[in-house]
Amino acid sequence: LGNAVVVGDRVRLEPGTEPPVIAEVAPRRNAFARRAAGEQVVEQVVAANLDQVVLVSALDRPAFSPGLADRVLAQAEHAGIPARLVLNKTDLGAPERAAGLLAEYERAGVPCHAVCAVSGDGVEPLRHALLGRRSLLVGHSGVGKSTLLNRLVPGLEHLVGDVNEKTGKGRHTTTAAVLVRPAPDLELIDTPGVRSFGLWGVGALELEQAYVEFRRFLGECRFTDCRHGAEPGCALRAAVERGDVSRLRYESFLRLRAELVDEERSGAARPRRGRP
Ligand code: GDP
Ligand code: ZN
Repeated sequence: LGNAVVVGDRVRLEPGTEPPVIAEVAPRRNAFARRAAGEQVVEQVVAANLDQVVLVSALDRPAFSPGLADRVLAQAEHAGIPARLVLNKTDLGAPERAAGLLAEYERAGVPCHAVCAVSGDGVEPLRHALLGRRSLLVGHSGVGKSTLLNRLVPGLEHLVGDVNEKTGKGRHTTTAAVLVRPAPDLELIDTPGVRSFGLWGVGALELEQAYVEFRRFLGECRFTDCRHGAEPGCALRAAVERGDVSRLRYESFLRLRAELVDEERSGAARPRRGRP
């Protein structure tokens, strides 16, 4: 079915068909997409009609990746979907390290949760943030997303694990998302752990707008086409130097934009709509 029908879509079924046949897909209020893994430049709509995107990361093993975090946050912003950041495995480092990292994202306006899926620390406040909303969970393989899900919803492992198994976790296969509703007020859409996450619909030029906390500085640079690198009179860099914008976010922005520029130059990123 590809992008024509994705997890979270509302559909009308053709009456009296077995197996069921989808007659109609309701218009989406939003959709979270990515560039599909692999050589081809195609869109992969991961899920639709979401209330929030929850990025699950780890303090260590694997090390926290601002690259992935900022891509997912940018993609959510592009789609107009609120996002939050979960930092798992907080038992693997000093509390100050976790707090320092999350402070960077709190300053960027991203609600954050420090958790330990093994001990259960911090899981209750996270559960509250999930209640009454449809949440898409995204994370690198190995960050402990399955362990965390099982903490949140004991027994969920079986539901989600089976699907991950079939899609070949971590391999270059189609990433399937699966929606579970373990309680009436809890809707989680889990995705297999990713190795990399390619942006879709956000190019080098649009990227700065997807870093929400940058926006108020963007019009203030001396040059209207400022790239916020070494240009004199760059208001964004000045904000970083004053401590008004996180250096971690700024540096990941520069790296990510450089990558997008390279891709666009090589022609690799000429967008083609995913096959319907
Ligand atoms: P997933 O690939 O994101 O689903 O990760 P898993 O849930 O399979 O966890 C990967 C590894 O990390 C497993 O060995 C878990 O036991 C371990 N793990 C998960 N959460 C934590 C945590 O909070 N602290 C520590 N130390 N290890 C964890
Ligand atoms: Zn600038």
